[in-house]
Amino acid sequence: MRVTDDRYCRDRLRFDLALRLIGHEARTHTIRAWTGLTEDRVRKLYRTYIAEHPGERIARRRGKSPQRCSYFLRPPRVQQEAAVLAGLFCMVGIVGRDARLDPRALSVAHCELLCLAYETYLALVSAPSISFEHAAFLVIALGRGDELVLRHCTGCGALTIDDRYSLRATACSVCAAAPCPPGRGARPGQLAGARALPAAARGSPAPARLGRVGEG
Ligand SMILES: [Zn+2]
Repeated sequence: MRVTDDRYCRDRLRFDLALRLIGHEARTHTIRAWTGLTEDRVRKLYRTYIAEHPGERIARRRGKSPQRCSYFLRPPRVQQEAAVLAGLFCMVGIVGRDARLDPRALSVAHCELLCLAYETYLALVSAPSISFEHAAFLVIALGRGDELVLRHCTGCGALTIDDRYSLRATACSVCAAAPCPPGRGARPGQLAGARALPAAARGSPAPARLGRVGEG
C-alpha cells in the first residue's frame, strides 16, 4: 500500500511538471528528458492541457532543442537576460560553485527549480526574449561548464556569462557597451589577455579579478 502511494505521488509530480512544461512551450523531447514520461504520455497530456485551457494559445514547438552556447553571448540584450537567469539559477541552487547539474541525471526536483527560476525571470523582465527551451539549455551548459562559465564583470562586478576560453577580460553587456573614459585605457571588454600581459611585465597591477561562480 505504501509503495503504491509513493508511486502515485511520483507519477502525479511528473504529470504536474509535464503540464507546467507544456505551458512553457517546451518540446516533447525536453519534457521526456526532465520528467521521464514516454512520448505517448506527453502527447496525451498535451491534449489534456489544451482541453483544460481552451482560451490559451500554446505553441507546440517541433525540431531540435537549442544547442548553441554562442546564443547567450550576443546580442547584449540576450546576454543581459541570460545573466539574470543565471543569477536566478544560482539562487534556487541548480547552478553554482557547489551545484553542478549532471545532464545525464536530470530529475523532477531539478526541473521544478528550473521552472521556478524561469517563471521568476518572466515576472522580472519586461518583454523577455529567452524561451524556456533556451533556459533549459543554459542550465545544462552552465552545469557542463565546457563552453560557458559564470564570471563577474571586471568593470562593475555584475554576474555575467562568459565564453570559457575567451582571452578578453570579462565584461557585462552594459560595461562592454559603455564608451571608454579618456585616459583610462580600454574598457573591460577590450582588455584582451594578450594585452594585459605587457602591463603586468611593466609592473602595473594586473586587472582586478573578482570571485568567480560556477567555474571549475
Ligand atoms: Zn559591468
